[in-house]
Amino acid sequence: KTNGAANIGVVGLAVMGSNLARNLASREGNSVAVYNRTYARTESLVTEHPEAGFIAGKSIDEFVASLAKPRTAIIMVQAGAGTDAVIDQLAERFEPGDIIVDGGNANFQDTIAREQRIAPTGIHFVGVGISGGEEGALKGPSIMPGGSEESYRTLGPILASIAAVVAGEPCVTHVGTNGAGHFVKMIHNGIEYADMQLIGEAYDLLRTVGGLPPHAVADIFARWNEGPLESYLVEITADILRHVDQATGLPFVDVVLDQAGSKGTGVWTVQNALDLGVPVGGIAEAVFARAVSGKAEQRAAVRRLVTSRPEVQKVSPEFAEDVSAALYASKIVAYAQGFDAITAGAEKYGWNIHKDQIAKIWRGGCIIRARFLDRITQAYTENPDITTLLEAPYFAQAVADGEAAWRRVVATAALSGVPVPGFSSALSYYDSLAAERLPAALVQGQRDFFGAHTYRRTDRDGAFHTLWGGDR
Ligand code: NAP
Repeated sequence: KTNGAANIGVVGLAVMGSNLARNLASREGNSVAVYNRTYARTESLVTEHPEAGFIAGKSIDEFVASLAKPRTAIIMVQAGAGTDAVIDQLAERFEPGDIIVDGGNANFQDTIAREQRIAPTGIHFVGVGISGGEEGALKGPSIMPGGSEESYRTLGPILASIAAVVAGEPCVTHVGTNGAGHFVKMIHNGIEYADMQLIGEAYDLLRTVGGLPPHAVADIFARWNEGPLESYLVEITADILRHVDQATGLPFVDVVLDQAGSKGTGVWTVQNALDLGVPVGGIAEAVFARAVSGKAEQRAAVRRLVTSRPEVQKVSPEFAEDVSAALYASKIVAYAQGFDAITAGAEKYGWNIHKDQIAKIWRGGCIIRARFLDRITQAYTENPDITTLLEAPYFAQAVADGEAAWRRVVATAALSGVPVPGFSSALSYYDSLAAERLPAALVQGQRDFFGAHTYRRTDRDGAFHTLWGGDR
């Protein structure tokens, strides 16, 4: 067997794979082998980018022969069957100690299963979450690798060479073993759903209740982007709201069909949170809000029935400040829930995940990159054992500062008939945590009444059952 010249290879040269390969090739010290099932794709990449010095494989055998040992190949093909096919082709040709990396959007449970399947061969299988889309892949994504410690010694420096850089640090860390990287990438996407929904609600309130046209709302978002809400999503929101549709001359947001799509990672986050018993209401509401938006027939039916809508409340000139406070508090809740899901996943799957590091690598390259993440890193660095982010001094203060405004905004929305599932579920979650007593006591009574499920008491240990009906 030959020992080739490339320290890294990329399989799958559609948009993500070719951008990642170009990113790798642009970094000093990397020599990149490339392979794609359909050779035409390989050929055009190599022809269009002679500067990259790609070593092109016509066949999988040629590709494998061009890799230096231990061989490392990143798979960037269609998730699912395509990925499995390529894993098998590489596993047949690789030797113990070589590394197969799946950089696609795999479900973390598939990654765990694949790692288990490959492990007996002595080949490392590493699932890597890569966030940042096409541009991130080319210029520097946020990278969330799972897999063994041993594989990370080889892979880590290669990934660090292509990751986004914030404050001199590459946005990559070894998340944990087997599927940990894809798991954390999934939670990232769930949080992204929540973040986007909350921003959408803030826009709706400023427009519907605040009475502002899109360009004025854009100015407010641009201003927010100079403060604690500074983030990629707030920044692009201002740009989108300013955008005017060329064909009609209308604001872009007014010509777009108001039915949001989704590709499934938000759904995975909620499904797993349900299995783990973690309340991620903010993320769930965001997924459901997209689903509701798509129910065109139900929306039309109810719209036809409703003859009068509530009167929009009059608001003070400080309304935008209130909305900003509500957005920030709700966002803190959504992140607190997302990090709780990480804690629960780590516990269930035996991963030693450093949450301060996760917040750190999300500061650059990915969709939820934001100034705010520094505060999360700080919170978990100061005390990795806090039970919730809401307990960390900075966040406790931020929520306390915004609480009155948050309540005003949710109440105003309800009275005005503006849907705010994100804002209101976040507030209810906070109130649930803060309440002295919850009606769960009554629910326990109900469960004991009809199902003899027993209950625990506030004043004595043990499980109790009441003989219901005796005194009826
Ligand atoms: P894609 O459209 O998902 O997949 C196309 C690529 O897969 C082509 O190279 C195709 O080869 C190859 N392929 C499909 N089935 C195959 C098989 N059975 N055997 C060998 N090759 C096969 O490509 P993409 O959009 O670049 O995405 C690549 C991966 O990145 C996916 O997992 C996707 O979910 C993920 N992704 C991530 C982000 C992000 O932001 N992180 C964004 C987009 C996509 P041929 O040319 O021969 O057809």
